[in-house]
Amino acid sequence: MFDLIVIGAGSGGLAAAKRAASAGKSVALIENDSIGGTCVTYGCVPKKLWHAISQFRHQATIATHHGWSFNAPNFNWAAVQSRLSDYVTSLNQRHEQKCLDLGIQITRGTARIASSTSIEVNGDIIQGQRILITVGGKAVRLPIPGGDLCDTSYEFFSWPHLPPSVVIWGGGYIAIELASILNALGATVDLVIRQDKILRGFDEDLRQFLQDRYADRGIRIHDKTTIASVKKAANQLTVTCENGTVITTEKVIQAVGRVPCTDSLNCDEVGIQTTQNGAIIINEQYQTSVPSIFALGDCIDQVQLTPVAIAQAREWVDLVLVNKKFPVDYTLIPTAVFSHPEAATIGKTEAEAKATLKNVSVKTLKFNPMTMALTEQHKEPIFMKLILEGDDEKVVGIHLSCDGAAEIIQSLAIAMQKGITKDDLDLTMALHPSIMEELVTIY
Ligand code: NDP
Repeated sequence: MFDLIVIGAGSGGLAAAKRAASAGKSVALIENDSIGGTCVTYGCVPKKLWHAISQFRHQATIATHHGWSFNAPNFNWAAVQSRLSDYVTSLNQRHEQKCLDLGIQITRGTARIASSTSIEVNGDIIQGQRILITVGGKAVRLPIPGGDLCDTSYEFFSWPHLPPSVVIWGGGYIAIELASILNALGATVDLVIRQDKILRGFDEDLRQFLQDRYADRGIRIHDKTTIASVKKAANQLTVTCENGTVITTEKVIQAVGRVPCTDSLNCDEVGIQTTQNGAIIINEQYQTSVPSIFALGDCIDQVQLTPVAIAQAREWVDLVLVNKKFPVDYTLIPTAVFSHPEAATIGKTEAEAKATLKNVSVKTLKFNPMTMALTEQHKEPIFMKLILEGDDEKVVGIHLSCDGAAEIIQSLAIAMQKGITKDDLDLTMALHPSIMEELVTIY
């Protein structure tokens, strides 16, 4: 009998399996796809590379204002796709090797929980004192007429060529990131969102700012509507929206959220309670309604972010297997949308702060960075917003949109974690000329 069976080798499952094995526990890891999960194989890693790859076209345009000239640049989708796929495979293999080096037993297959201490995979039974479910999530596919003609982010990563036109359905992280990548590579992009603005849940001004930047870059946003049907004729798809808009396109991507991947686990039979969308219900120790079975990461449907799943895994292993406390603070989670320009944020939005705190003040800045001074039409303004609370003006939110915003917010997260105030910013020596000197001289 193993000390621990981990079902799902994504960010949370791998972190838990490796930490438990490093602490001397015997671990069985079950996975029905590549080792690394969504983040490594179909999410963060290939997305971030596509984000970087796609920047060049815009940078090349800016460069022409800086004296450079290019012969028509040519982008080879197939070549980069193949290099990227090799890189992802190498990461999958690296994760697998690390597990093997730690003595983790890896079984390929789909696990079905057979009892409170056993699972069945490929017809075999594996027993463990504890079972940890880290099966992650999968893309929602809305059942509209022609829904089967649509792709999701999963298929995007293996498209054989860059389509000339793409309709993206949804206004969340995935929709916004894919829209930006495809637009930057030269595809015509139509975004269909049911709200009036993209990125519900982000600060209202940041949402508007980014939406305006998207429009500037030629992304067509069809707001306050949704897709009613998709039809195929020859090699084209015809998308009809509920407001009557008709769009002809080569590809449609549904990016309308993700749901926990728990269907095949046999939760009902073994008494693991789930919510209506299949999320596993847990207590504060990540324990399900079956005491020896635990769950964390995207399949509990709380915060669907890789660093959060990893932190939960470390916290859980230390708490339950090592009997030690791994302190994690989930109140300040930095997050970024890898769009062009990037949008990154930490802490409360203005609306959240005003609804939950007293004496809130807000400082907002929009400006053109010096590096864009020589360009004519291609201005890239920067958005910066500080949310302050109380007489000592504690910083409770920072919202930023500019190239490199994710890196900047990660650094500011350390200061936020330490509870900085506006005074601390005022006392910080500016670095000139830089974008972020504006943050420490804002008044
Ligand atoms: P999100 O929840 O971010 O966005 C889903 C989008 O689909 C929203 O715009 C939502 O609209 C819309 N939608 C949902 N249901 C319907 C419907 N029935 N009809 C029309 N529109 C609908 O999900 P994503 O799939 O984009 O991403 C999943 C999660 O993955 C994210 O929440 C995030 O946690 C994580 N992620 C993180 C990334 C990062 O850190 N950079 C990158 C990618 C993903 P509405 O707002 O009205 O609900």
